[in-house]
Formats: sequence, C-alpha cells, structure tokens
Amino acid sequence: MIDMIEKKQARRDEMIEIPRHKRYDEWSTNSYKLGKFPCVICGKSVNIDLIKHRVYMANDGEHLLSIKEAMQDPQAWEELGQWPIGPDCVRMHPELKSYIVQVEKK
Ligand SMILES: [Zn+2]
Repeated sequence: MIDMIEKKQARRDEMIEIPRHKRYDEWSTNSYKLGKFPCVICGKSVNIDLIKHRVYMANDGEHLLSIKEAMQDPQAWEELGQWPIGPDCVRMHPELKSYIVQVEKK
C-alpha cells in the first residue's frame, strides 16, 4: 500500500506551478467577459479554433502536469482538462517544453 502511494506521488514530481503573468487576473477576467478562453499563462483571450498549443492543468488549477505525467495519470487532469496557451507565451517560456502539447491539425 505504501509502495503504491509512493509511486503515485513520484509520478507527479514534474508538476510545476503555473508561471502566471502578473496581469493574469485582469486579462483573464476580460477574456471571460468576452466569452473567450484565456491563455493559461497571461490570461489574454485566445481563439480556441486556432490555438496550436495546450497544457494539462492539474486539479487544483494552479499547477501544470508534464506531458509524461498527464499520460501516466489521466485522473490528475480529467477535471480541468487541457487549457490553451497562446503563441507569445509558448515562445517566452521555453522551460515549459515538456509541458506543452502541440495540437494536431484537423
Ligand atoms: Zn499568454
């Protein structure tokens, strides 16, 4: 039993706090008012049909799961799911490479 718990925690070692822009609250509020999705980092509205990158948000809404963790533990993100990240924030956060999913074109 203890073994299982340790394994479950170990799989979330890569979970990181979302490096939110200092104006995230303001910009995301505006996005919601416009009926649009906010970028997970800066909160600016994104066009969900054109968005090319997403991240897996952990259930607390403040952390991201790495792609590897999300694959290994779908329950960790099923509630909040995947969230869009805008092209500017993808460029500005190269450290998030193992967290950002490239959306496949339809
Ligand atoms: Zn952004």
